[in-house]
Amino acid sequence: MMKKICLLGSTGSIGTQTLEICRALSLPVTGLCANRATDLFEAQVREFSPRIVALSDPKAAHEMKARLSDLSLTILGGEDAPSRLVEEVDADLVVNAMGGIVGLAPSLAAARRGITLATANKESIVAAGHFIREVAKKHGCTVLPIDSEHSAMFQCMQGKSNSKTYLSRLLLTASGGPFKRRSVDELWDVTPEEAANHPVWKMGKKVSVDSATLMNKGLELIEAVRLFDVDESDITVLIHPQSVIHSMAEFCDGSIIAQLGAPDMRTCIKFALTYPERCDGLNQPLSFEHLDLNFSVARDGDFPMVDLARDAIRRGGGAPCALNAADEAAISLFLNRKIRFPEIFTTVASFYDRYKHEAVSSPEDVLRLDQHIKQEICN
Ligand code: MG
Repeated sequence: MMKKICLLGSTGSIGTQTLEICRALSLPVTGLCANRATDLFEAQVREFSPRIVALSDPKAAHEMKARLSDLSLTILGGEDAPSRLVEEVDADLVVNAMGGIVGLAPSLAAARRGITLATANKESIVAAGHFIREVAKKHGCTVLPIDSEHSAMFQCMQGKSNSKTYLSRLLLTASGGPFKRRSVDELWDVTPEEAANHPVWKMGKKVSVDSATLMNKGLELIEAVRLFDVDESDITVLIHPQSVIHSMAEFCDGSIIAQLGAPDMRTCIKFALTYPERCDGLNQPLSFEHLDLNFSVARDGDFPMVDLARDAIRRGGGAPCALNAADEAAISLFLNRKIRFPEIFTTVASFYDRYKHEAVSSPEDVLRLDQHIKQEICN
């Protein structure tokens, strides 16, 4: 059966790669969502002919209605448009490729409808993953990770004898970021352009800066705890500059299972789109000629952002939300040239410290705390 796909965040890096796969595998796209009324979004709508689309900016929705007046489709606009799209769309799979905590409401909407959710929106999993999981469980929604490391872990845990029951730890690999050979003094001169240019993976701006500060690995550590319900202490961060092994699972009998491949997000997206089957198409072969793999274990103190993330997930409550909000706000200040690169660390650390004790008992609490922290940082 051809799965009908609803894609949120279609003009971003994961979004455009998801559509490449839909095109290659002839998967029907029934819903699309973006922020702004761009030429790219218009072209996507014309190519894939979804029945319903959403734009989170109401003005953009207005503009799109004019641009697409020759087509018959529903166009939703406004902050809640992504969630309304998920509530109304006829789809078997929702792909959440939105960036930031704004991805939380539509992920919850998919979970409430019991529609399989393939998510690349790590901010919502970090800040509110336990709520998403709770709702998903209640409504029989399967959550599939798209992030390469979590897709790898998930793949390594398929099958009875390598299920979570026998797991002893997860090995989360990290390329080390683009600045691993620079001294702290040199980091003051890092520009947003340099930080947004990752040497191995082709990614969006926010996640590239997160990779440069190693916060990305911190967020991914929390993401793994949330997705697989493991202890933070059972996750080892492993520096592996080649990014060929995307992560590993170690089992109680001493066996370690790894997932390998060329560093290409399309492999992880394709796995989520075709799960539990596998499918040929757009494959990038991994060459074993001259393949030289290196590893080093990240110790406490090596990466301050990973240490903060460990602290946040151990504390629980609003701490992961506080960390994520401080990070999102600090990165937007950096990308807008309001703070320098090393100040991302100090901003995140000081605001995390201020808000790490906050309690959250619902997704609404998470959103309120998130907003409050971002306002404090940006004012
Ligand atoms: Mg990743």
